Amino acid sequence: MAAETLDQIVSLCKRRGFLFPGSEVYGGLQGTFDYGPLGVELKNNLKRLWWQHNVYERDDMEGLDASILMNKLVWKYSGHEETFVDPLVDCKTCKARFRADRLGDMPCPKNPKKHPGECEGELTEPRPFNMMFKTQVGPIPDPESFAYLRPETAQGIFVNFANVLDSTNRKLPFGIAQIGKAFRNEITPRNFVFRVREFEQMEIEFFCHPGEDEATHEAFIQDHVRFWTERCGLSPERLTLYEVPKDELAHYSKRTVDIMYRFPIGVEELEGIANRTDYDLGSHTRDQEKIEITAAVQPNAHSTQRLTYFDQPNKKHIVPFVIEPSAGVDRGVLAILTEAYNEETLENGDTRVVLKLKPALAPIKVAVLPLKKNEPAIVEVAKSIKNSLQATGLMRAVYDDTAGIGKLYRRQDEIGTPFCITVDFDTLGREGDAALKDTVTVRHRDTMMQERIAISQLKSYLLERLV
Ligand code: ATP
Repeated sequence: MAAETLDQIVSLCKRRGFLFPGSEVYGGLQGTFDYGPLGVELKNNLKRLWWQHNVYERDDMEGLDASILMNKLVWKYSGHEETFVDPLVDCKTCKARFRADRLGDMPCPKNPKKHPGECEGELTEPRPFNMMFKTQVGPIPDPESFAYLRPETAQGIFVNFANVLDSTNRKLPFGIAQIGKAFRNEITPRNFVFRVREFEQMEIEFFCHPGEDEATHEAFIQDHVRFWTERCGLSPERLTLYEVPKDELAHYSKRTVDIMYRFPIGVEELEGIANRTDYDLGSHTRDQEKIEITAAVQPNAHSTQRLTYFDQPNKKHIVPFVIEPSAGVDRGVLAILTEAYNEETLENGDTRVVLKLKPALAPIKVAVLPLKKNEPAIVEVAKSIKNSLQATGLMRAVYDDTAGIGKLYRRQDEIGTPFCITVDFDTLGREGDAALKDTVTVRHRDTMMQERIAISQLKSYLLERLV
């Protein structure tokens, strides 16, 4: 079972501090959200897992963290100034603006049972709207001193291709991975963090010989489906692959396959995996006329560097082809929350909300709870267990005594904490069974099964189960 409505997720996120609307005290800013204490942990865990999977566990990947602000010529030669547009229409009656290709997703502001254009309002002809945010650079307002906030992290990788190649001595094939913010002035941000104006991307630009691109593309599609299912816990039945039709491909793409997830709002894109050919390196390179570029690029009058690779066996400079897996962190968080969310009716008729997160993604790994908060000896042992687990530096551990034990378990279930440890009178050796002295109860979130573990074994017991 997973969340059925977006409202279930939105309300859990607000109530427990995963996500808050941006600038809420001033009425908000549309298309922005702030990650709260638990949200930032979940998001960081997702990014860490992605980096682990794509960088640390491979021999052919380097990392990068490029600036958000870049020379505006980057966006001229990347093609974004001209083509990074969505079709915009206005309603002549209510003056609201919509994305022409998404009218079916939008309610009419005056008559929410209808879609724009199906109501009395007449729509204007679609016109292109560029989604890049502009900002002034430097203290003097001058029409030429502006930069764009990057709408994708990818270009920071392309313009650093030669720097990374020279500093690492890499040979083809190899990739560069980056996680960072991207900004798009979406016409209609909506559906919680699914479509926002400020978001994060986890992207790889993987450089290979022309001719090896199609097989590399296929391998990334399979590998990233595995990432979302095996590592992040998304169920294979909720994931589908969508072959983007030729007439909908972005200007740089030869083929794009989207990994789609069944969100509560419908089946939508989680990650796009594109074959960007030699378009981007070809567009940004100096000496375009001296090298073979297959993609239709604009002549570049400004680049100061050759973004090529010297192919030793054939003794010539080539422009590598690029495979790009590009995933949204925020859509990843939303998919993971959707999948993990469960409302269960227990045997005694009570209900519980439980987030069945993979332990590696859980914001808090273990909660240490005293059976009685008025019993100083129990509290002391519980706090010392929490401190020693925390001191390992390997897990986020918390101590909580602000409610009765049943309520404390429910609270941890709701935020996805995989293990609760309870310290009781048996731990102190005050009850009849001497064998239970220095042991604690470990409660498992999903099954609610409880077992007795020696305090001395706790660390290794948990570490084995937290991967
Ligand atoms: P869509 O068609 O949904 O607008 P896109 O095809 O424009 O998405 P890409 O340019 O392929 O998206 O961006 C790569 C990834 O970045 C997407 O798969 C998505 O996860 C994420 N992403 C793109 N736009 C947004 C946004 N406005 N809010 C949140 N995430 C986004």
